[in-house]
Amino acid sequence: MIGMIVIGVFIILGGFIAGGVVISESVYEGVVLSEERVGVGIGLIAAGIISGSVFIWMGVVGEHLKAIRESLKHVVGYIEDTKDDGSESEATPDTEEKPKLNLCPDCGTKLQPKAKFCPKCGKEM
Ligand SMILES: [Zn+2]
Repeated sequence: MIGMIVIGVFIILGGFIAGGVVISESVYEGVVLSEERVGVGIGLIAAGIISGSVFIWMGVVGEHLKAIRESLKHVVGYIEDTKDDGSESEATPDTEEKPKLNLCPDCGTKLQPKAKFCPKCGKEM
């Protein structure tokens, strides 16, 4: 794709040279001999810039596409990694909630999961 950029630069240079030659032939000592030929020269330069820019643009975009593809791979890899981390961290709160011992706040006696009163001191839950 670097080749495209080089071709584009050569097209622009070629346009400038061809246009410059045409313009210099039609201008003699600051006097415009043929406005038509000057116009043709300017047209050649403009055409060179436009078509050369297209080549450079395609070359640059081609390079960027490669880079974009590479970075997309990294992004996809990153998303895959974070997905794995997410499922692991989701599992932790479940294990934290399971071992929940009910102890009487007054005497510390171990209570039944849905006990309404402490069997030892009779404290209401
Ligand atoms: Zn108690």
